[in-house]
Amino acid sequence: MTAHVKVLIAGSGPAGLTAAVYTARAQLRPVVVEGEPSSTSDQPGGQLMLTTEVENYPGFPDGVLGPELMTAMRSQAERFGASIVTAKVTKVHLESSPFGVWSSDPSAPDPDYEAETLIIATGAQALMLGVPGEDRLLGYGVSTCATCDGFFFRDQHIAVVGGGDSALEEALFLTRFASKVTIVHRRDRLRASRIMQERAFSHPDIEFAWTHQVAEVLGDAKVAGVRLLHSTTGEERILPVTGVFVAIGHRPNTSVFSEEVELDDQGYVVTRNGTSTSVDGVFACGDVQDATYRQAVTAAGSGCMAAIDAERWLEARGS
Ligand code: NAP
Repeated sequence: MTAHVKVLIAGSGPAGLTAAVYTARAQLRPVVVEGEPSSTSDQPGGQLMLTTEVENYPGFPDGVLGPELMTAMRSQAERFGASIVTAKVTKVHLESSPFGVWSSDPSAPDPDYEAETLIIATGAQALMLGVPGEDRLLGYGVSTCATCDGFFFRDQHIAVVGGGDSALEEALFLTRFASKVTIVHRRDRLRASRIMQERAFSHPDIEFAWTHQVAEVLGDAKVAGVRLLHSTTGEERILPVTGVFVAIGHRPNTSVFSEEVELDDQGYVVTRNGTSTSVDGVFACGDVQDATYRQAVTAAGSGCMAAIDAERWLEARGS
């Protein structure tokens, strides 16, 4: 049976749940389709569920655990009447409001929801290298989240792959645990900001494997090393690490919307005039539309904006 809702929110990270708090307080009874647990960051609660300490979310002078922060946001949204459904948006029809939203079998003739407004807050997920061994050893030495898994690599030599701010941030964090961190970067120059570069260069436990790509993650039951290839000469070498942290960027979770909502060339939802998308009545917030800031606090801020935009959109139509 199709349920009629005023506001449907896809995604339950800081953006989606903040949108839920605001629209619930505005008596719009939002439904949050929160996602489904998976091995990557595309899951209920978003990427903060894969994080330990969050030290830069305002209001927590001693830091807060990522999952704890998300649980609190979820309770806050529910307290004001938001419904949270554990499912993934599998199909949408966005020609005009009310929009059809499927959260189960996409081949079903009728949508699960008929939504007057849709807020897309499906976030982004970590990119992977796609080399042999990586998938098989994910969780057995291969990780995309230093803050979640760094603790398991006490006094070990680990590799971080990438040359952007994420890679350097992960590497610097991992020095708390590891005996040595080798940053493997495919070029001879970093993409990261100057301040992060300076920190990494001056850290005694960080070294660089410049101009190298990971060709294979080695190991049977757990990571025993990585096979590196020199980006120009093709020369091979083995780096004997017990952990590999992949930090080569993120992909926005937009495939289900790609036919109907304008995306940029990297697949992020294009927003204009606040959180409006190319479809009237569809709004987007958080990492799904933000490749630049990607912070919990900016995601939450844009979730608030999307909620206010949706509320005003409904009000203007007397809904
Ligand atoms: P990014 O800036 O896109 O950097 C990705 C890095 O991974 C690049 O160095 C890239 O190499 C490398 N890479 C991509 N695909 C690869 C592959 N298949 N094999 C090997 N290397 C590969 O991504 P990010 O570091 O996640 O940062 C994204 C945005 O968030 C940036 O705007 C960043 O400033 C921001 N951010 C900020 C902070 C902070 O301020 N504390 C922390 C994290 C992220 P090339 O350089 O050769 O392209």
